[in-house]
Amino acid sequence: MQTIHIGDIQIDRLVESDGPFADAGFLLPDINPALLEQHRDWLYPHYVEPVSNKIIMSFHSLIIRSPRATILIDCCVGNDKERPERPGWHQQNKPWLQRLAALGLQPEDIDVVLCTHLHADHVGWNTRLIDGRWVPTFPNARYIFGKIEYQYWQQATQQHNGEQPLNHGSFDDSVLPVIEAGKAVLVDSDHQLESGIWLEPAPGHTPGNVIVHVKAATQHAILTGDVMHTAVQLANPDLSSRFCLDADLSRQSRKQLIDTYADTSVVLLPAHFPTPTAGFIVRNGNSFAYRCAT
Ligand SMILES: [Zn+2]
Repeated sequence: MQTIHIGDIQIDRLVESDGPFADAGFLLPDINPALLEQHRDWLYPHYVEPVSNKIIMSFHSLIIRSPRATILIDCCVGNDKERPERPGWHQQNKPWLQRLAALGLQPEDIDVVLCTHLHADHVGWNTRLIDGRWVPTFPNARYIFGKIEYQYWQQATQQHNGEQPLNHGSFDDSVLPVIEAGKAVLVDSDHQLESGIWLEPAPGHTPGNVIVHVKAATQHAILTGDVMHTAVQLANPDLSSRFCLDADLSRQSRKQLIDTYADTSVVLLPAHFPTPTAGFIVRNGNSFAYRCAT
């Protein structure tokens, strides 16, 4: 994705990983296998890998630079995390910090970190491992977590007594250390970060899931987090992912977003759409498609 400009606000994408991720039937358990073929003309090869038929997904952060602040949205999986249930993430070592530097930023430059929700692939770089301890990666940042989202995972983690840690153990290694360092701010789901940058609740994927609006002059972008995981969901907006905690509510949030912004000039920046990520929703027969912006 090339840099996006919304008035005097700049948005860049910082990739941790990008490539074929999973079979459509794994990611979207209710999918009709014929759907991919019906939408082959626009889904392949950008969103579905032609040889394996796997859904292509990206794990990236988005960085908003306004004249007032540098805001990091979503923190991917992170390095060195114990994720044995997900071998591709387990103790991974990705050059994410080097890529941050390539955007002209050091960890000290980040003023605000915002996680759209607290799944393991959105909180990882909140912390890094230093001398055997998880410490906040961004020493000068205030970390913004949704109140509803934080309270849900705090309680669920406390009550969990399964063999495997809940949510890959990410609350303990990537959220709690930020709280304990006194760097977290818990906010309502419609919190305004600054003039022209605000949250909107989009529950279902998780209870406190939010999207982020960026608006300046006549331009408008929405960082849609995990309301959609793949453009395949535009071919059938009813399809929720296997990772959605409330599939029905996730469907409602997704359909509302799609209906509101289809055939408009609002640029979407979903959390898992592969390169080039930024695009527009367009009506396509009885459903929708995605048109890349850059
Ligand atoms: Zn995600």
